[in-house]
Amino acid sequence: MRRICQVFRSSRQAEMYLYVDKEQGLAAVPEALLQRFGEPQAVMVLLLAPERRLARVAVGMCSPPLSSRAISCKCHPGQSTGSAGTAPMPEWWEQPLETLTQTQWEALCDGCGRCCLQKLEDEDSGELYFTRVHCRYLDAQACRCTAYTQRTRLVPDCIELRADDTTAMDWLPATCAYRLRARGQPLPSWHPLRTGDAQSVHEAGISVRGRVISDEHVHPDSYDEHIISWVK
Ligand code: SF4
Ligand code: SF4
Repeated sequence: MRRICQVFRSSRQAEMYLYVDKEQGLAAVPEALLQRFGEPQAVMVLLLAPERRLARVAVGMCSPPLSSRAISCKCHPGQSTGSAGTAPMPEWWEQPLETLTQTQWEALCDGCGRCCLQKLEDEDSGELYFTRVHCRYLDAQACRCTAYTQRTRLVPDCIELRADDTTAMDWLPATCAYRLRARGQPLPSWHPLRTGDAQSVHEAGISVRGRVISDEHVHPDSYDEHIISWVK
């Protein structure tokens, strides 16, 4: 029988975790235990099945030049998304993607680093799971690619995202500015373009900073042990 298990970490006691059925959540946990547990912090989702059929999917979302209607990589080292104290840019980002300049394309990236996490796809349902395992070329503190110009040679599945590539768009996290704008949705309030502060993506708890582990330290066969629920 296949079950999805949600793991919560205790806010009160180190190394204390609750493993519950994801559908039920915390509903079946005795009140006394919840009192002792404190505020539950969701840390991971595990897929439990006699035979797991999870396939790894492409890791990154890098791009060809704008001239070919591509979306630029979020980790571009030369990207600037503003700095503390600068005024927010005019709302050019609400315009259709095709009308943006290359600089605007690149500035759309919020610098969260989520797309550089290893992902697994359930081969039966097609459901996508993000893991906390990141590509080794991601600077997990800055949330920027350290090998931008060589990325597709070094990481063959670092995708060159195109605006019309709906499959790759589906692999982007739900918070991704490219995915949101491609679907006609507004940028979130914490986006650096709206706040004028490149740090706001970190302060809002959206970036991967401090919560991830490099794929240098995790065997690919055990990626499923690192599935997370804070990126969807
Ligand atoms: S090489 Fe790795 S870190 Fe760089 S953009 Fe691709 S997936 Fe992200
Ligand atoms: S997921 Fe974040 S870092 Fe990656 S392309 Fe989208 S906005 Fe940029």
